[in-house]
Parts: sequence; C-alpha cells; structure tokens
Amino acid sequence: MKKTGFIWDESYFWHQTGQGALNSGSGGWIQADTHAENPETKRRVKNLLDRSRFIKELHQIEPRAATRKEVEMNHDQTYLNCLKELSDAGGGDAGEHAIVGPDSYEIALLSAGGALTAVDAVMKNEVQNAYTLTRPPGHHAEYETGMGFCLMNNVAIAAKYAREAYGLKRILILDWDVHHGNGTESAFRSDKDVLFISIHQENIFPKNRGGISYTGEAGGEGYTVNIELPAGTGNEGYLQTFDKVIEPIVNQYQPELILISAGQDPSRFDPLGRMLMTAGGFYDMAARMKVLAENHCNGRLVALHEGGYSTAYVPFCTLRVLEALSGKQSGVEDPFDQGYHEGPFYQNQAEAIHKVIEIQKQYWEL
Ligand code: ZN
Repeated sequence: MKKTGFIWDESYFWHQTGQGALNSGSGGWIQADTHAENPETKRRVKNLLDRSRFIKELHQIEPRAATRKEVEMNHDQTYLNCLKELSDAGGGDAGEHAIVGPDSYEIALLSAGGALTAVDAVMKNEVQNAYTLTRPPGHHAEYETGMGFCLMNNVAIAAKYAREAYGLKRILILDWDVHHGNGTESAFRSDKDVLFISIHQENIFPKNRGGISYTGEAGGEGYTVNIELPAGTGNEGYLQTFDKVIEPIVNQYQPELILISAGQDPSRFDPLGRMLMTAGGFYDMAARMKVLAENHCNGRLVALHEGGYSTAYVPFCTLRVLEALSGKQSGVEDPFDQGYHEGPFYQNQAEAIHKVIEIQKQYWEL
C-alpha cells in the first residue's frame, strides 16, 4: 500500500501578514494583534505531526516552485506583475485583504508549486493520495486580483495543470472551507471539465457570492454546486449533505481526479467562521472523499490546505484529515471534542439541504 504524500516547505511559514485585529487593521482603536492568517495555524499542524510521530506514516515530498507560465494559466499578467512589485518592495495589499509581505511572490509560487508537485505524485502513482500544507492559501484569488488572504489560486492552477499535463476531462474540486471558494468558481464557471462543489456558511465571505441558485453558466451550467448551510451547522449537517447531495452528484460525474480545498475553518473554534465541526467530522469528510476517489479514479486525490484560524484546533482537524487519507491512526486524542461529534442538527439545516436538492435536481438525479 502506497503512503499519503505530504508536501510542505519551511518558507510557507515565512509569508508575513504582519499585525492586525482578526483579518484587518483595528482602525487605530485597539492594540494590534497577530493577523488571523498567520504562520502558526500551519506550523502547528507540522508540529503535531512531528510530536505524534504521525509524520512517519506519510511520504514527505519537497515542493517545486510553479513557473510563471503555469500560474498564468489562471492569473492575469498585470496582476502577477503587481504582486511581484509589491513583494519586491517589501509588501502591500494585492486586492481585498490579500496581504503581501517581503518575498511573498516567491513563496506563493512555491505554494502553487506544492499543489502541482502533489498532482504529479498522485498522477504518477508515487503516493496513494496527497496533502499539501499550502500557504498562502488560494481559493479566494480571482483571475486579476488577490482576495481574502489568497494571492494565487493554488487549486485552480492545479486543476488547469492536471488537465493540460495529463489530458483529464473530468476533475472534481470539493471546497469545504467555511468561506465560499469564489476564485475557483470564477475560474471554472463556464467549464464542464471541472465540477466545482463548495460547501460553506451562508453569505459569510465574500459577500453575495456562493448563493445556491448560481449553478455556473454557458457550457458550464450545472457544473457549479453551491451548498450554503446556516451558521451553527456541525458534523451531522455536513455528513447529511454528503449523503444527500455531494456523493450522488460525484457518483454521476465520475471524476478522474479529486482535488479538495481543505479549509479547516468550519471547526467549532474558528474565529472567522460560525460552524460547529469537530476534528472527527473532518475525518469523516476526508474518509468519504477517499472512498469516492477509490470508486472513481483509482484513489487519486489531492487535498490543499486553505483557511483555518484556530491555532489550537486546526492541527487536530488536519491530523484527522491525514489519518483518513492514509488509513492510519495516530493514537492522538482530540482534547476539544467534548462530546460534540453528533450534532447539533436543527430544522433550519435540514431545510437548507432540501433547498439545494431542489435546485440541483435540474442537473442531477437526487
Ligand atoms: Zn476560509
């Protein structure tokens, strides 16, 4: 049995977002804190893998940098030039909350390159599947602007690369980050070669994106699946969504490769989300995606780290994802589960899932 690939680089933790209060400046009214998207949530994932020795169950792979040509598959030249200039000048904002620090351009190329490294390793069957601890994250980045801490859209670049390098015709991107994957949706909105499914908290960020009635356009109509769930949804609501919406659609689409935008910010403790997932819930989602990959594409699955801002809980949630993907157990207990694995599940969550089914019935048998 081949191992799960794990791709990371020390420089992923060197992308500097500076000080802030949550996700921006405090307007000068409260003392500056560490920015929500800081290296610690990711570095502590690596720390937990080392501390628990689970890293030994994984096949570590060094990322290569993406080439300029590769990132141009998904980004405008002018934008990339601007990103480089800001980075060379020591920093700035490349869009809406898209913080650039010194050397962020080069680190972003290595982050996107980590995604490509993972795609190659999985497509060449060197590993059974792979997880990349990408940073900066990518799913909010649009063609011509950065957004929401994202500079280059790692998952979109990976999908375009996989299509070009391996001639794939059906790629699934599942985005379970608590925020809508607007940049990824934009990249494939009129494209049926990539099925984009985003499960997110309703209307949290970006504003007015990710509504369930938006299903793609032109030749891609029906290949964008937006699933909005109400604040307070926990494991049960997410898993019912897998049962009733995600799995039936993926079984009909029959992907040749599965990419996951794995944001661990639907967790119970995230400061930038209001969902109630436990680490065990992340295990369940990843395990179900692994089964889908085994049933449809010889297990080919790449998960890319996106958001997740609880320094205490993101490491545990990510460890569970890695356990599920590798089929190995770490023996690490979740100190924060506190009996919340089952729920809570309320009527408004059932209604939200039902509404999605009513819309998606136009395109899929549900
Ligand atoms: Zn997020």
